[in-house]
Amino acid sequence: MEKCDYFVIGGGSGGVRSARIASQLGAKVILAEKGDLGGTCVNVGCIPKKLFSYAAGFKREFKMAANYGWLIDDKQTFNWTSFIAHKNKEISRLNNIYQKILDTANVKVLRGAAKFLSNEVISVAGKEYLAKHTLIATGGVARKLNIPNEGLSVNSDQIFYLDKLPNKILIVGGGYIATEFASIFNGFGAEVHISYRKNIYLQGFDMDIRLKIQEIMKGQGIKFRYNTNLKSLAMVDGLIKASFDDHSQDVYDKVLLAVGRDINIEGLGLANTLVKVGPNGKIIVDQNMATTDDKIFAVGDVSSPLDLTPVAIKEGMHLANRLFGDGKGKLEKINYDQVPSAVFTHPNIATVGLSEDEARARGIKIKVYRSNFVPMKIGFAGDKEECLIKMVTSAKDDKILGLHLIGDDTPEIMQGFAVAISLGATKDDLAKVVGIHPTLAEEVVTMN
Ligand code: NDP
Repeated sequence: MEKCDYFVIGGGSGGVRSARIASQLGAKVILAEKGDLGGTCVNVGCIPKKLFSYAAGFKREFKMAANYGWLIDDKQTFNWTSFIAHKNKEISRLNNIYQKILDTANVKVLRGAAKFLSNEVISVAGKEYLAKHTLIATGGVARKLNIPNEGLSVNSDQIFYLDKLPNKILIVGGGYIATEFASIFNGFGAEVHISYRKNIYLQGFDMDIRLKIQEIMKGQGIKFRYNTNLKSLAMVDGLIKASFDDHSQDVYDKVLLAVGRDINIEGLGLANTLVKVGPNGKIIVDQNMATTDDKIFAVGDVSSPLDLTPVAIKEGMHLANRLFGDGKGKLEKINYDQVPSAVFTHPNIATVGLSEDEARARGIKIKVYRSNFVPMKIGFAGDKEECLIKMVTSAKDDKILGLHLIGDDTPEIMQGFAVAISLGATKDDLAKVVGIHPTLAEEVVTMN
């Protein structure tokens, strides 16, 4: 039986980073992956999603170009097939880069599904391996609704491989994926309907952000069905008929289910270990990514409170450094309260820290600052779509508790502010810095 120090199950962002660092620290590392290297993010997540988002954004840019003096022919044509082919080529390039990273780091890669036979013996493709430590980094899978004819819908993996652009699409869900794809298909010119089970989508985000992005998306023509659940699907005359629990029906040529993700542990043989899944549906880990089995660890979507690539990477690095490092430095603790994130709607949302409601719920006395205006580029193009800047500070010491933005490129803007906020910046600290004019970002340092 081949032995190793570290057996990593899953070649996505968290697994690959952890394997590489562990190997560089001198551990003998084996990594097993049954699909394409790069995991959800590279293959059916962040990367292709952002390419889709860029592609969809051009239509509006062409429209805005007129007031900037550009005469753009009304008949621009968009070729879905060539875009998808080019996207697929880019994803293959990234798969190869992941393979090279692992080869260069001297990590042995096995292509196949891994299964625990015990907490230290793992089998892959009929061979058994004995591991001192094993990492589960298997990510998640799209959640199902279990409704009649669910197979007529697509999930957030399949949406990246449609053979043509839909004319009218129903998107079920109210989270990151639903809203991003609503903007994407709206940008491409499709008629987009969102169906969400509660009364306002993007639960967990600051309420001003939710209301403003809803107003903007409605203004862009996206239709909302709130307080409804999809009950069943049926094929009628070549279209998909959707029936809802409020007894309404409509027909679409595509239906996307974006109702969250479940952890990917099927066939992993966890019953042969002491690993446990918690009430939140994730593998239980402590702050050092240790599971309830002392030989097994978990990082990323399978166990983390946040399903975000950079979080999985941080967790993977933290764990490898802890297990195989010399204990000096590099062992970063992750502050899950201050993870910045973005929703790539059009326009983008970017957020870090506490929302106004969360801060109040924690009993903190706060001050709230808001600014909304039509950005110069948009106003000059004849549009009225506003951006939004909202800051939540502690009334006691002026410390910034949360920053929430809507506007083009706000994720780029947020990254820098997130550094300052994680270092404990106050609103006054920002005000001491001279703004860069004319930008949206300068408003963050000048607002009062
Ligand atoms: P989210 O958790 O963001 O949203 C899931 C949505 O589905 C929620 O609106 C939820 O409703 C709804 N839902 C859940 N179960 C049901 C059900 N049984 N019936 C009807 N509706 C249901 O998940 P996503 O699938 O959008 O994305 C998965 C994760 O991937 C995200 O949590 C995010 O962390 C990550 N991601 C990050 C991106 C980014 O960083 N830009 C982009 C895409 C994904 P309710 O609100 O009521 O719970």
